Amino acid sequence: MALSELMASVPLGMAIIGLDLRYVEVSEAMAAMNGLPREAHLGRLMAEVLGNEPSARDVLRRVRRVLETGEPLVGVEIVHREPGGGVEGTRVYRASYHPLRREGEVVAASIYVEDMTERRRVEAQRDAGAARERAVREQALRETQEAVRARDEFLSVAAHELRTPLTSLRLHLQLLQRQVGVAQPALSAELAPRAQVLERQLSRLGSLVNTLLDVSRLAAGKLSLEPRELDLAQMVRQMVDAFAEEFSRAGSALSVHLDGPLMGSWDPLRVEQVLVNLLSNAVKYGAGRPVEVSLAGEGHTAVLAVKDHGIGISEDGMARLFGKFERAVSERHYGGLGLGLYITRQIVEAMGGSITVRSAQGQGSTFILRLPTWPQPPRQPEAR
Ligand code: ADP
Repeated sequence: MALSELMASVPLGMAIIGLDLRYVEVSEAMAAMNGLPREAHLGRLMAEVLGNEPSARDVLRRVRRVLETGEPLVGVEIVHREPGGGVEGTRVYRASYHPLRREGEVVAASIYVEDMTERRRVEAQRDAGAARERAVREQALRETQEAVRARDEFLSVAAHELRTPLTSLRLHLQLLQRQVGVAQPALSAELAPRAQVLERQLSRLGSLVNTLLDVSRLAAGKLSLEPRELDLAQMVRQMVDAFAEEFSRAGSALSVHLDGPLMGSWDPLRVEQVLVNLLSNAVKYGAGRPVEVSLAGEGHTAVLAVKDHGIGISEDGMARLFGKFERAVSERHYGGLGLGLYITRQIVEAMGGSITVRSAQGQGSTFILRLPTWPQPPRQPEAR
């Protein structure tokens, strides 16, 4: 195929420039970029064809350099602004300049030019779209963070406010029981079951309020530990005894395997809280089937397992379980705030330990707690 035919049809800006800086060949596409017919280029000086625009002078300078040095220039960007053309009149080209040699001597230069205007426009639009999306996402994140902060603040205030009347209620109930007991022992005995119901409900309310307080303390990074030497085996035995009635009411047989004594340094109130949470979950989600509690020492670690044969947890549930307000059951069937395991994990990790779960839907769950026996000085959990 003849060179002139190639030049007429190739969809690329191409030109060959002689040593005298005149056009030897030019493709139709390049001619169109320059805004003149192809014939108007051939044999004419580049300076005449391109005019005196700054971008035209740059092109000329580069061609001269390639002809003089014999070194190619690849991927040079040219921005051409039509005078008074604004954004629409601006075109972006990408040009490469190569020397053409005959018997080692540079005899001409070739130019290849690609019009990048459309591609750059699309890229700019995409970048602007991405920036807009980023801004929307960032705004949504800020709003969510603000909502979470407001919720935590509300929880903290509400929990503190609820504590005062509760304490007062408890005191007055005790006083009332004592006074009636002294003045009318027969009536006191008659009222005892009702008083017990009141006490139970008050202590339930109290533990709900404490849960809320713990959550707000954790959010503020203010959960403190007061470790002291204790026998974990004895503690587990006591807690299991305290839960015996609840398990029997639920119809769950309870078996206990303890490797006692198991000495270590832990905060007794916090360990108790963790045990209460795991045992009450075993009662609640154990479906009245047997529950096994075991404790053993493994080197410097105490390993406690609470195994039930109840409703179990789905895979999706297991991934969320230890998060704040996360639940894997419907509120209609099981009451709860979804905070017990969140607080449990925070406490356990603050003690340098870990809590994990093995479970499958409908096949029961085993919660495994690992606590170092003599941990490093207690550290504060991070605010979450
Ligand atoms: P709550 O019991 O108040 O919902 P928890 O934080 O103690 O909150 O537990 C979170 C969720 O984990 C529960 O809602 C329940 O879906 C699931 N769960 C906890 N313990 C068990 C268990 N032993 N068996 C099955 N599901 C459990």
